[in-house]
Amino acid sequence: MPIKLLLFTIILFFVPSTLWSAVPKVNLKNNISSYSDFQVEYLMENPGESLGIEEISKMPFTKKTSNAFTFGYKENNFWFRFSVYNDSKESKNMVLEFTEIFHKTVDLYILSDPIIYKKNGLRIPVEEREIQESNPAFSLHFAPHETKELYVNIASIYAVFGALKLKTPEQFHKDTLQKNNIYIFYFGAIIAIALYNLFIFFYSREKIYIYYVTYVLAFVIWAANYKGLLLSYTTIGTYNILQITIPIFFTMLILFTQTVLETKKYFSLFHKILNGFIVILVISFVWMLLSMHTGFYFMNLLSSPLLPFLLLVAFWALYKGQKFARIYLLGLIIYIVSMILISQLALGLIPYSILVSNAPIIGSFFEIMLFSLLLAYRINLFREETLDAQEKLLAQQHTESSRLFHAVAEKTVALNNANKQLAKELEEKKELEKHLKYQASTDSLTGLMNRRYFFDTCKKEIEHAIRYNTGLSYLTIDIDKFKAINDTYGHPFGDEVIRSLAQQMVENSRTTDYIGRIGGEEFAILMPATGIDSAFHIADRLRENIAKHKIIFENKVVQVTVSIGLSHYGKKDKDIQTIIKRSDKALYEAKESGRNRVVCCDEA
Ligand code: GH3
Ligand code: MG
Ligand code: MG
Repeated sequence: MPIKLLLFTIILFFVPSTLWSAVPKVNLKNNISSYSDFQVEYLMENPGESLGIEEISKMPFTKKTSNAFTFGYKENNFWFRFSVYNDSKESKNMVLEFTEIFHKTVDLYILSDPIIYKKNGLRIPVEEREIQESNPAFSLHFAPHETKELYVNIASIYAVFGALKLKTPEQFHKDTLQKNNIYIFYFGAIIAIALYNLFIFFYSREKIYIYYVTYVLAFVIWAANYKGLLLSYTTIGTYNILQITIPIFFTMLILFTQTVLETKKYFSLFHKILNGFIVILVISFVWMLLSMHTGFYFMNLLSSPLLPFLLLVAFWALYKGQKFARIYLLGLIIYIVSMILISQLALGLIPYSILVSNAPIIGSFFEIMLFSLLLAYRINLFREETLDAQEKLLAQQHTESSRLFHAVAEKTVALNNANKQLAKELEEKKELEKHLKYQASTDSLTGLMNRRYFFDTCKKEIEHAIRYNTGLSYLTIDIDKFKAINDTYGHPFGDEVIRSLAQQMVENSRTTDYIGRIGGEEFAILMPATGIDSAFHIADRLRENIAKHKIIFENKVVQVTVSIGLSHYGKKDKDIQTIIKRSDKALYEAKESGRNRVVCCDEA
């Protein structure tokens, strides 16, 4: 029982005191340089209200929040109250910092006599501030064990979010320096990437690089503005005007997307819808130039489906196997996640933290890097594709030329065969011609010149003899009493006699002589360049040898004689006829005078 009573007493004692001594307190300790997690009380004025500190300080602050807060898009005045106690014997200097720069009002009131009032926020130029930093910050001085009750009045035309932090001046400067270093690295890297791609544009003249560079630069300006880096050089008006970079940024993102995903070629409906978004953004841009607030609202309203739509296009491109869809999608998703985070924060749906507040800055950084990577990958891919195409062409040329080579080789073989065939046919033809010529010029029984060929030859030879005045002799040879042989032994035997005597004539004459069978059993021999004496000598030896020669046929032996008429080319001779005639005459004489002899007929 006593224990229950004691508890009740304790509760009775403490509850009112916690209720009424409600102002949350930060105790400053010697060993702590930064206070970033404490409670504050707040109240929100009604729309259009603008109460003074006297009235506010008398009003009950019924709500509490963390020092890091978000209330969504509210144009109302917010009042935050908390007290700070210097829990030390020494006096202390502190800095009260607000982590966001874009609120038009961040004013501090210190309840004392008189009330201290320090103005800050976007409407106060940096050089007019007590601490000349883009983030609103105030200097505070605490005597030993002094308590100060602080009121912070915050109002924004955007969303109300941020964090109040208490720091020692050293810590504040250290953090500011570190923040600036991060910004130098961050913007340095992005600008370097933009310049790198700008150089590639000058080299390649591809529009996509201009889209990318403009996109990055528009983002850089927006981000620098959002982070208050331009505040020292600009005014609150400029801060708002620089929101104009958003439609530029989105337009370039769309153009970049259209080019990189080749929407015009492959996804023409999406391409047209994206063109529609560009039209909206251009209208917003112009509108924002005329009236920032309504233009900005219009842009937000109509372009809010843009990011989900880009996501749809990217997924579709990925599904269709577009080359760059994967990297693009990754960059876009990172960006969209960061945009979702910041809008959730701005709507007051997730707690405030520095990380979430910087989500678009961090997300865009990765997106910008990924897109630059994509451009590099794209060049590489195009180069590889060109090389591949060249290789294919070469291979094609190679196949083509080897095909040609084989075709030519085949044709060559065919041509060679045809040539061989032709040569063979020519040869055969020649043989045939030769044979025909032989047949036309040769006597078939004896193999000697036939009558016509022999006389043609005689004509040529006499012309030669006349021109060069060489001697020429001519013999006419007739077998003696040949009829009787035919009659006695038969016609075939007669043929054999003719053949055998022809052989004798060949053997007994010189190679330069021409021998012809000019009648049934009549022969003639033309002896070029032969004088009458040697002709007579040859003729007589021939006659003698024939007479001695035994002809054997079917076991019968026979000997025959011939009569020979000899004539010689004389000065009066103009052609062969006269010579032949004289030779015939001589032959006649040989027959008449008893046969088996040579008779010479001198030239007429
Ligand atoms: P001669 O001494 O006067 O010349 O008496 P011959 O019997 O030889 O008379 P001629 O020269 O007039 O006779 C020619 C004969 O030769 C006539 C024909 O029967 C024969 N004869 C002609 N050509 C051929 C032939 O090709 N073969 C054979 N077997 N006999 C032929
Ligand atoms: Mg005869
Ligand atoms: Mg005869």
